[in-house]
Amino acid sequence: MSEQPILEVRNLKKHFQVGGGKTLKAVDDLNFAIRRGETFGLVGESGCGKSTAGRTIIRLYEATSGEVLFNGENVHQLKGKKLHDFRRQMQMVFQDPYASLNPRMTVGNIIAEGVDIHGMYTGAKRKERVMELLRAVGLNDEHANRFPHEFSGGQRQRIGIARALAIEPQFIIADEPISALDVSVQAQVVNLFKKLQKERGLTYLFIAHDLAMVKHISDRIGVMYLGKLVEVTTSEALYAKPLHPYTQSLLSAIPIPDPEIERTRERIILQGEIPSPLNPPSGCPFRTRCPHAMSVCAEVMPEFKEVEPNHYTACHLY
Ligand code: SF4
Repeated sequence: MSEQPILEVRNLKKHFQVGGGKTLKAVDDLNFAIRRGETFGLVGESGCGKSTAGRTIIRLYEATSGEVLFNGENVHQLKGKKLHDFRRQMQMVFQDPYASLNPRMTVGNIIAEGVDIHGMYTGAKRKERVMELLRAVGLNDEHANRFPHEFSGGQRQRIGIARALAIEPQFIIADEPISALDVSVQAQVVNLFKKLQKERGLTYLFIAHDLAMVKHISDRIGVMYLGKLVEVTTSEALYAKPLHPYTQSLLSAIPIPDPEIERTRERIILQGEIPSPLNPPSGCPFRTRCPHAMSVCAEVMPEFKEVEPNHYTACHLY
């Protein structure tokens, strides 16, 4: 029997009521699972619902309907000690490391905040834990007494990662953790995530707005469009043979560092803007921008199904 996934997302919806009786369907019927020790990349343009999905999974938002099972338990029904334990086991790393670090606290106290809340260590043990974490993320012991403004963007993200690790979580949701960083620093932070995963057996949900960013870290990737998953498969399959026209267009926009190939490549330029999630198109949500749209696409929502082994997509072409 295969091992139970650490996370299962079933028919998850997060809708917001906005003015004028309208409903914003930010997350609309997501289904996917993440295995222990795996990195699952969640990708899509801004406004596609990927960050809302992350925040609903970790229960910063209550779900409108559906289930999030973490180690087999429905996160949205946890109470008391079980909820407290869940808060320790799943942590989040945010996009803007500066906004998410309290400027008036020393780095040592920022990192130890969760340790204090959960009463894990005090005195010398607490200090030791902070130093161990600083070293684990590539910083030094003396950084503990400094304040966030004294650090570069990349260093601040390392502090954010140390804070997330402080209470020994099993699962980390990294919400665009490298998008705000210089390109030169992005690879270093991705490598740090990889190293920590190997050392600590972590599982990641890694959210990003372009496929190039998740390529080197993800085992599998889910592509979102207007609150829905349109394709899920392994990283290799997604890059070698993307099935959904939206994924194909995202991949065609990534430059290839070979001038010969780059010169002859065909770019798929998407027409128009991403439609408002307040007023999504009928049928397939991608049909207003899809170069292959057919009449059925306006009438029937394509089913999200397995069209090749471990390769799921929602498109009438398959
Ligand atoms: Fe394009 Fe139709 Fe497939 Fe949607 S269902 S992606 S509109 S071909």
